Amino acid sequence: MNPRHAAAAVAAKGFMPHEEGMALHEAALAAGGAGGPLLEVGTYCGKSAVYLGAAAAQAGTLLYSIDHHRGSEEIQPGWPDHDPEVVDQATGLMDTLPFARRTLAEAGLDDHVVLVVGRSATVAVHWSAPLALLFIDGGHGADVAGDDFANWPPKLAPGGTLAVHDVFDDPAQGGQVPYRLYSQLLASGDFAEVGSVGSLRLARRVASTGRALRAGGTAEATRRHPAAAGFPV
Ligand code: SAH
Ligand code: MG
Repeated sequence: MNPRHAAAAVAAKGFMPHEEGMALHEAALAAGGAGGPLLEVGTYCGKSAVYLGAAAAQAGTLLYSIDHHRGSEEIQPGWPDHDPEVVDQATGLMDTLPFARRTLAEAGLDDHVVLVVGRSATVAVHWSAPLALLFIDGGHGADVAGDDFANWPPKLAPGGTLAVHDVFDDPAQGGQVPYRLYSQLLASGDFAEVGSVGSLRLARRVASTGRALRAGGTAEATRRHPAAAGFPV
């Protein structure tokens, strides 16, 4: 990664250690060479988007990074990871979009990263481009993460790379929702693990049975969304 990208990534607010970011970058560089877009669920202030966006720039593809920018349940006021600086004084709501914009401008990655502002389940309804790499790092509640794991992995191209953050097999280290959902994907046989650094897991899409999706049954929330009316999701 070039020094400008590395400096912007390290300076950005966020929850990703540099070592994990570099592993994500390398995985995206390898996957992006195939030509499809990269997609991230959970932009926050743009830290992981720099690691991924730098790879997109180098590989000649694009990163789409999705966030409603209102913050996950677990980073709202009163929670240990809440940052009062990202609250919009006019609305009293969290708004991390200006921080993400600043991070990407400082990295010089505006032409390589498309910020998509919206709920991930809503964006998934009309998304059809096969992904070279998918990074799931959105909300960690069972409902929101359940939707992400049901909606997005089926959109990976065959052989595409799945990256998941905050996978803790020891409950003492962190919440178990991403671990449980990721384990279900591996158990389906559609994904095979290819690497791990810290709480980052990397897997490859090796088959397309959709078994995990049916077992989880968690695409329900997308089906309920008004934008999904009449859509086979
Ligand atoms: N990937 C970032 C951190 C993401 S934090 C990094 O490493 O730098 C998780 C983000 O997911 C938050 O910014 C939150 O607003 C977003 N999020 C939570 N639920 C969401 C949903 N349903 N749709 C879109 N974004 C969501
Ligand atoms: Mg994370």
